[in-house]
Amino acid sequence: MKIALLPGDGIGPEILAEAIKLLERLRRDGLPIETETAPIGGAGYDAAGQPLPEATLRLAQAADAVLLGAVGGPRYDMLPRKLRPEQGILAIRKALGLFANLRPALLYTEVAAASALKPELVAGLDLMIVRELTGDVYFGAPRGRRTNAAGEAEGFDTMLYSESEVRRIARVGFEVARKRGRKLCSVDKANVLETSMLWREVVIEVAAEYSDVTLSHMYVDNAAMQLLRNPRQFDVIVTGNLFGDILSDEASMLAGSIGLLPSASLDGRGKGLYEPIHGSAPDIVGQNRANPLATILSAAMMFRYTFARADVGDRIEAAVRSVLAQGGRTADIAAPGEPSLGTAEMGDAVLAALARQS
Ligand code: NAD
Repeated sequence: MKIALLPGDGIGPEILAEAIKLLERLRRDGLPIETETAPIGGAGYDAAGQPLPEATLRLAQAADAVLLGAVGGPRYDMLPRKLRPEQGILAIRKALGLFANLRPALLYTEVAAASALKPELVAGLDLMIVRELTGDVYFGAPRGRRTNAAGEAEGFDTMLYSESEVRRIARVGFEVARKRGRKLCSVDKANVLETSMLWREVVIEVAAEYSDVTLSHMYVDNAAMQLLRNPRQFDVIVTGNLFGDILSDEASMLAGSIGLLPSASLDGRGKGLYEPIHGSAPDIVGQNRANPLATILSAAMMFRYTFARADVGDRIEAAVRSVLAQGGRTADIAAPGEPSLGTAEMGDAVLAALARQS
């Protein structure tokens, strides 16, 4: 289990340190974990003049999985776009061919009050959005600006998916559904868009290989509404880049704090980059206040999706759940006036919960 550790900037090193404590514990328990650390983002720029230094990319390519903290910070805001920390993440996703983004929205009943929705609507929520990451209107050509016949400026983009791109993301959707509740909802706009009509045909074709998974279809406007009306109807949603971008942000609000939400970006052959969905939180850096749970839960996803060790993923998630059940809270998820744990104390609490399981 070769894992490249990329702490990044801001709270990145603080939260990753807690995931590293967990990996060390699992190694002592007998998992063949090997880790190596490298800089990315602003730290990459400081070390090698690039947000994704060559050596970091080589390490990530040689690893089975990459576990990342977060990048970015005010110190780097003045840099030209191609040297900005965020470019490091875009570049590593591209170089590793990570086309499938998995974002769970899972609501721990213990923190249901932190959700934007009423607790009775979201208690027990556990859905996964599988978003295609490298195609669609974000990358389709032609795109640009022009002047039309009337002399008016126009902007245009091309929504485009090939059959093979739809097939490979559909397969990821079905595989993920197979590991969960065996229900897959494909979200498109097939009543209007040619791209979506092809999308739907291909998804239906792929479904023939997965008779154990129940497939449904939903138009994206309805999906946006259903996520607020009755989010627990979903198990896995698979969708294109644009729709997934919007729906996954919407779904993250259902779950309360962004400090609790992990993500995975996969290449379809098992390799993945795992990271919390939040950024580098420059406002709380160095204060021992960052919530490390999104990063710890990203590590749980890594065991599930790269190392096919759902048992280890389950153990980590159960440890997090038990800490929350006992009232362990970092400041971002504590109720006003409630005492809170620091970053390191939360990491220790998860380790202690893990130790109690064995
Ligand atoms: P952010 O996610 O860093 O912070 C938003 C708010 O959430 C802040 O108040 C922050 O304190 C809080 N927060 C975030 N993570 C938290 C955690 N683990 N525990 C407790 N509170 C947490 O978003 P932002 O402020 O818009 O961006 C800050 C920097 O992060 C920018 O440079 C941005 O470009 C970068 N960014 C990076 C990534 C990434 O690394 N993938 C993603 C988003 C933003």
